Amino acid sequence: MKKPTIAIAGLTACSGCQLTLLNCEDELSEITQRFLVDYFPLGLTERCMTGPIDVAFVEGAVSTPDDLETVLKLRSYSRLLVAFGTCALWGGVAAMKNHEARRELAATVYGAAADGMKTFNPQPLHRFVKVDFAITGCPPEKGELLVTLAALLRGTLPEFPSYPVCAQCRGRENLCLLIERGELCLGPLIQAGCHARCPAVGIVCEGCRGPVAEANVAAEVRLLLDKGFSREEIVSRMQRFYPEWDYDQRD
Ligand code: SF4
Ligand code: SF4
Repeated sequence: MKKPTIAIAGLTACSGCQLTLLNCEDELSEITQRFLVDYFPLGLTERCMTGPIDVAFVEGAVSTPDDLETVLKLRSYSRLLVAFGTCALWGGVAAMKNHEARRELAATVYGAAADGMKTFNPQPLHRFVKVDFAITGCPPEKGELLVTLAALLRGTLPEFPSYPVCAQCRGRENLCLLIERGELCLGPLIQAGCHARCPAVGIVCEGCRGPVAEANVAAEVRLLLDKGFSREEIVSRMQRFYPEWDYDQRD
């Protein structure tokens, strides 16, 4: 059987999602036997994208003309395009300051060197190209990547949880940090799949996997206000991985 060809690319991001693949030490050898890696600048010396590509895994948000050119090229070369990680799917940490003026942000960070910088508000991939599948997470779960690769070899795609972090959290019989300790936990709004890694060790869910389908934003905000958090604190926390919550959504 012909090996499927894959590409792993990074746009505006930290490379953490791509490292999820490189961190599959026990499976890497088999992955390279079963897939032909056409393009992977982080992991291969050869940087040329030749195509055609069966599946492109794309990390990061689109925030520069170079990002846009790369994602358009990947889209045109690829049968399937996968948004790989929270930045690619939701904007992620790259987009957490999208409500502030881009030019001033750049000047704050880069000073005079910001003059002439070609950059715009980081956006998820789906704003520019058709996205066929997504693996969320900051970074994504290694298990979800491996399940996806295995499914692709069978010519299919996996299903990931469509319920919130709280479901896995309560399944682990964790103490509820929101209800029982009054902490600012975003578990009710966030897509499960991480097995409630943070609450399991007493740390609130910061929302790194992005919104779950049908997240009840109004109920969470109301609950947090009742617990004594200010609207500014709540909004600031919620914007960390996804900048576009509908705070006025009615439940
Ligand atoms: S600790 Fe957080 S994630 Fe766990 S059940 Fe409570 S609100 Fe949900
Ligand atoms: S508990 Fe929340 S912040 Fe922690 S890994 Fe899971 S989704 Fe991310």
